This record gives sequence, structure tokens and C-alpha cells, in this order.
Amino acid sequence: MWFVQAAYFVAAVLFILGLKRMSSPKTARGGFYVAGIGMVIAVVATFFLPGVGGVTNIILILVALALGGVISWVSGKRVSITAMPQMVALYNGMGGGAAAAIAAHALTVGGGHGTSEVVVGVVGALIGAISFSGSLVAFAKLQGWMTAWRFPLQNYANAIVLAAMAVFAALAIVYGNSGILIVFFLVALALGVLVTVPVGGADMPVMISLYNAMTGLAVGFEGYVFGNPAMIVAGMIVGAAGTLLTVLMAKGMNRSVTNVLFAGFGETAVGGEVEGEMKPIEVNDAAAMMAYANHVIIAPGYGMAVAQAQHKLWEFVKLLGEHGVKVSFAIHPVAGRMPGHMNVLLAEAGVPYDKIHDLEEINEEFATADVALVIGANDVVNPAARDNKTSPIYGMPILNVDRAENVICCKRGKGRGFSGIENELFFRDNTRMLYGDAQESMSRLIQAVKAY
Ligand code: NDP
Repeated sequence: MWFVQAAYFVAAVLFILGLKRMSSPKTARGGFYVAGIGMVIAVVATFFLPGVGGVTNIILILVALALGGVISWVSGKRVSITAMPQMVALYNGMGGGAAAAIAAHALTVGGGHGTSEVVVGVVGALIGAISFSGSLVAFAKLQGWMTAWRFPLQNYANAIVLAAMAVFAALAIVYGNSGILIVFFLVALALGVLVTVPVGGADMPVMISLYNAMTGLAVGFEGYVFGNPAMIVAGMIVGAAGTLLTVLMAKGMNRSVTNVLFAGFGETAVGGEVEGEMKPIEVNDAAAMMAYANHVIIAPGYGMAVAQAQHKLWEFVKLLGEHGVKVSFAIHPVAGRMPGHMNVLLAEAGVPYDKIHDLEEINEEFATADVALVIGANDVVNPAARDNKTSPIYGMPILNVDRAENVICCKRGKGRGFSGIENELFFRDNTRMLYGDAQESMSRLIQAVKAY
């Protein structure tokens, strides 16, 4: 039907335009609406596809839409921003599972597909099934329900399961009977679990992003099987964007994707103890130090998100501005618990985009800054990642806050970062610890600065 194809074309264009807008925080919100409208058009158009079936099918689709819509609306509204990675993992798993289920249908009862469609369908099924079970394990880990699990010769065991899956995939392509398909799916699901269980917590974001890319690919492949351009374009966009994000995040943590998959890291609290002591600072002294500074650079991290301190922080920054202090924000690519976490929070508080700088953009400036204010960040400012070859996080790019003349670290106590390793920054001569919940500390700093 020409108008269905035309609607799919419009939807595909809107997906691309939406994604383009998502590449900047200024336009990202609009980008979600644009892509969302595209999705609504694609979904509505699908009802007019020939072969969608009779009334029963239509009712089933409507019930599924209503259920899915309500569940995702409620959970999306309720989820805290710190739990967003779990949510992404879960939704991504649903996408992979849906792609695998569509493939299962096409390969068993769908019929009428040529060899190329069957091959692509099986590959899509495989990727979707791995992404489904792997994402569920990722969800469980981020939710704190399970920890990394490794056993001897794990990579060899995974290789055997992978080989078995390839054999069953080939058998499914040649014979296509449902018995073989069931075993094929079970092996693919098992592989998703096996590949994900040993991955350490600190590498989980990279893993989720990889599964996101895989889900996109699976949807795109199944779109090819059904000759559905909206699925192909949407799937390929997610696949390409997910792959780029995976590579960027791996770079941000200095991990190669193969290293994430095949080497354990980040689950156990390792990293040598640091000699020396942490030196506290009183709020009034910290406020004076910043109020009389020329340039203050702020490095926010996960603790700012936990404390929801962004609004108070921005109030404090505006006060510093009134004292003639130049204030910049330095954002590490993996600060917090999801890509863009800090940007989202600062944007929510109303911080102008021209004050927010990426790591590469601002790292040189720390050497000339009077004060670096670290608020709830730990791993992303750990100098061991830059200087200590024996550190498990060695090689991960960091914000060079230690190079500022003075460093003020705002955190509750001696808690470690996500990687579980000690941070020698807190013991340095030019570092002072401003203990307390980030939001409370900001409130106290505001009061103190008002006195100057
Ligand atoms: P970290 O997790 O390394 O450290 C956060 C620090 O915040 C803790 O040391 C804690 O210390 C402090 N803190 C916690 N609650 C509060 C509070 N209420 N007020 C003040 N401080 C608080 O955070 P970073 O942002 O530096 O690093 C992110 C880490 O998370 C990296 O290791 C990254 O790889 C990983 N990761 C990143 C993801 C992403 O996509 N961005 C996703 C998943 C993991 P204390 O207890 O003493 O207060």
C-alpha cells in the first residue's frame, strides 16, 4: 500500500532528524519529540499493512500497546535518574526479545521467505536473543541483585557455546524445523547470560551500550525479512548510534570492547591503600577561597546526582559570578551513572551550555585555575588513572583537577568510587575535604559566600 510506505518514509526521516537533534543538549528534548512523532506514525501505519490479520490481531496489538504504554509511562515517570542505566538495560532487553520473537515467528509459521531472508532472520534472531538475556543480566547487576561471576576456563566455555550456537544456526537455516529453532534460541539465550555474568560493574555501561547496538541490528535484520523499511531504518540508526556510543564509552574508560567482554574488571575493590591523611576544610574557609578566586572549575560526579545538589550548586555559582569569579563546569564522559548524566542534571538546574565543557576542552585549564571544586566525583578525578601504571583504572582519561592550585572535594566521608579503589587525590597537599552531603554543603557555602 503506497500510503503505508510513504508513512514509513516520513517516519524514517523523522527518526534521522530526531537523532540529529539529540546530538546537542540544546536541541535534544526537541529531538525526542521529533523521533517520537515518527514512531507514532510508523505504529499507526502498521495497522494498514496488508496481512496484519483480522479483528483478533488488531485487538491483541491494541492490548499490547496499552499495556506497554501504561507500564513504560508509569515506570518512566517514577524512575530516579540514578536508576536510569537499569531502566535502559531493561527496555533494551525488551527490544532484543521482541526482535527475537518476531524472528521466531517468521522462521516457523511465517513461510514464503527466500534463503537470504532466512539467513538474515536467523542472524537477527541470534543477536536479539543474546541482547535480550544479556540485558536482563545487566539489569540485575545494576540493580544490585547479582555480582560478577567468573569460573575457570570461562572464555573457553563461552567459545564452545558460541560454536554450538553457530551449528544450530546453520541447522535452523537448512532445515528450519521448530525443534532445532527452540534449541538454537536456548543456546543463544545462554550465550547472552554467559557473556554478561563475568563483566564487572564498572564496565556495565559499555556492555549495555553494546547490547543497545545489537538490539538495533536485530530489529533492522528482521525489518529486512519482512520488507519493512521503518524497521530497517530505525534498527540501523539504533545499531549505528549504539556502536558509536559503545566505542566512545570504552574510550572514556580506556577499555577496548574485547577487553570489556573477555577480561574481568571493576567488581572487586582493588587498588593500593594510600599513605597520608585527608585534610578537612571548614565551610567558611572554602567559601572564602572561592569567593576571592579568579577562576573556579567545578567537576561534578555521581554524588551530586545522589544528593540532587545541582540546583544549589547553580545558585552558588551565580553568587560567585556576582563576586567576579569565572566559573566553568568540567564534564567527564562517564561521570555519574549514565552517558550525559551530568549534562542532564546541570541543564535541569538551568546552567547555561556555554559554561559546560567536555574533558578535552577544559583539561588544560585546570593548571591555571585557582580552585577545582570536586562535587561528588571520585573515579573520574583519580590521578592514579593517569600516573600509576599498577592501578586497575590506569589509562582511563581523568579530569586533571589535581593540577589546580587548590582542590576542594565535597563528599560525605571516605566512601570509594564506583571502581572501589582509593583515590590519592584526597590525600594530596593541595586538597581539602569539605565533608557532608553535597546539597547541604552547597547550602552552607551559599550562606557563607553571602557574608562576603
Ligand atoms: P564515583 O562513583 O566514582 O564516586 C562518587 C562519590 O560520590 C563517592 O566517592 C561518594 O563518596 C560520593 N557521594 C555519594 N553520595 C554523596 C552525597 N549525597 N553527597 C556528596 N557526595 C556523595 O563517581 P564518578 O562520577 O567520579 O565516577 C563515575 C563512575 O561510575 C566511574 O567509575 C564510571 O566508570 C562508572 N559508571 C559510569 C556510568 C556512566 O555511563 N556515566 C554508568 C555506570 C558506571 P562518599 O560516600 O564519601 O560520600
